Amino acid sequence: MIRKYFPAFLIFGFFAPLLIFGAMTLHADTTNPSTSLDELEKRIALFKPDPTYRDDNAALVALREAVAAAKEGNYGIGACLVDEITGEIIQRGRNHIFSPYFRSDLHAEMDVLTGYEQRVKAHTPKVEGLVLITSLEPCPMCLARIITAGVQKVYYLAPDPYGGMVHLFKNLPPIWQEIAQGRTYEPAQCSPGLTTIATEVFKYSAEMLDERLKEK
Ligand SMILES: [Zn+2]
Repeated sequence: MIRKYFPAFLIFGFFAPLLIFGAMTLHADTTNPSTSLDELEKRIALFKPDPTYRDDNAALVALREAVAAAKEGNYGIGACLVDEITGEIIQRGRNHIFSPYFRSDLHAEMDVLTGYEQRVKAHTPKVEGLVLITSLEPCPMCLARIITAGVQKVYYLAPDPYGGMVHLFKNLPPIWQEIAQGRTYEPAQCSPGLTTIATEVFKYSAEMLDERLKEK
């Protein structure tokens, strides 16, 4: 009996490690969240800001936040408030929809503005001269919040044709358009490589997280 099955054991013994190794490789390529986020993080760390692009420094801050958000299991979007004159980062934030616990309001822009307003605790928080840089075009909720907050300039690294509201600005209800008159919401002046990274960090988990929201 043993002789009869011996060749089968031999064949299994030869192929089993290959199958297990193959499965591990597949797992690493498709489901291990740290692999490509680490790679994106490395590209951000090695990126040299180009002084000919006004927003590169702040864009890199937003991207570091975006990667941190994705690593925490949230949408890979980050943002910061910057002093337009000095370039000082006044507040930074990132998407916190799913982690550490579900917060339907905590998009990156909302996180930044809430953090800033809670910190300064003023009747009229000073936003003059502050620019909001976000890694992705703001959604309808965030654009309405930005308008309410009084932020005059918003620059985004990557467009969001499916969820962004800036390119649909004319579809906002009239009062929002009126308040926002004269304000600037447009793509950031940053290196094209940073726009690419912003898109990649967002796309890393966007589809999967969109599904989670659809299932709610
Ligand atoms: Zn938003």
